[in-house]
Amino acid sequence: MRAWTAPDLPTLDGSGGRLRVHDTALDELVDVEPDNNEARFYVCGITPYDATHLGHANTYVAYDLMYRALADCGHRVVYTQNVTDVDDPLLERAEQTGVDWEELAEDQVSLFRDDMTALRVLPPQHYVGAVEAIPSVVELIESLRLTGAIYQVDDPDYPDWYFEVRRAPGFGRLAKLSDSEALAIFGERGGDPERRGKKDPLDCLVWRMARPGEPSWESRLGRGRPGWHIECTAIALQHLGAAFDVQGGGSDLVFPHHEMCAAEGAMATRQPFAKAYVHSGMVGLHGEKMSKSRGNLVLVSRLRASGADPMAIRLGLLARHYRTDWEWTADSLREAQRRLDRWRDAVARPSAPPAEPLVAALRTALRTDLDAPAALSAMDAWADAPGNDPDAAASAAQAIDALLGVRL
Ligand code: ZN
Repeated sequence: MRAWTAPDLPTLDGSGGRLRVHDTALDELVDVEPDNNEARFYVCGITPYDATHLGHANTYVAYDLMYRALADCGHRVVYTQNVTDVDDPLLERAEQTGVDWEELAEDQVSLFRDDMTALRVLPPQHYVGAVEAIPSVVELIESLRLTGAIYQVDDPDYPDWYFEVRRAPGFGRLAKLSDSEALAIFGERGGDPERRGKKDPLDCLVWRMARPGEPSWESRLGRGRPGWHIECTAIALQHLGAAFDVQGGGSDLVFPHHEMCAAEGAMATRQPFAKAYVHSGMVGLHGEKMSKSRGNLVLVSRLRASGADPMAIRLGLLARHYRTDWEWTADSLREAQRRLDRWRDAVARPSAPPAEPLVAALRTALRTDLDAPAALSAMDAWADAPGNDPDAAASAAQAIDALLGVRL
């Protein structure tokens, strides 16, 4: 699938150094230490049935900071993202609105691309749809079958294929939930603990046999379509290989999604799926998590259409640390716009304080678990300080562009 247009990524003088990020599995900061200097990361993409809201934007801007920090450390970056362009929520929405599911997906992916481009988010090198990944999904299920961890439920109509999660090395280490918590969350987030015929209620669907009226594809497993977790596992393994550096996504993906992907990947390769699991916080509105089901979405496209500067939207997101849960308010955008104006005035000065200490402070902030608020404070201080370096303004603007993705 085509990604979106890449913004310019300026290269700053001096590189090296190391990014540290918070690993959910260990609950501590860990060094990202890419093999052969190639940083490989995967971020779960959208299910394209509703336009990009600020929760999505917050997630993709957070991993965009990670991309920029890794590149600035001197690593080659390989970034893969999926699009879940066939799954229950998409099909349900298409049915409810009387739209063809493929058209709905295409329109929403197109809108997502425009939003990402406007927000100056670096595109993944591999942008892969579930539908186009079906051959790799089937291949992965076939290889998991050889381990004996794949079975069909005893259902004469729909003998769907499942993965025995508890057989995987390390299952449960990511989310660290009790059985009852795991079951409850699994049921709330797309799982089917009640499905009859499963060996364990937590076993996850990998291949759903064709139902009347649903899209399906021919395969050695029978006609059907992929489950959600195996889709990401297959795409990540195909484009990044085993033991890649970071698996990322919103914190609502820790369980079951990332736990299941980690289990499938570890079972298939006998290596860790990812070396670290990084999760961004949830953005709320009026006291509730922003979500499609609650109908309280602030859409990036709508903000843009109402005249908001995409760089102000981006700064509004960067004002909060990526791991915190926070609330978007109308003030978030107003404050961000004021900051953007102040920074633009500061880089338009004929002379300013030297840029080197600012660049060093930005780097330190980002390399310490992508601390964007600390980076913003450093730039605020630079913008307020007097100075007489005639080249500093251009250097500062370039650093803000390269490291924070904000074009002044
Ligand atoms: Zn995923």
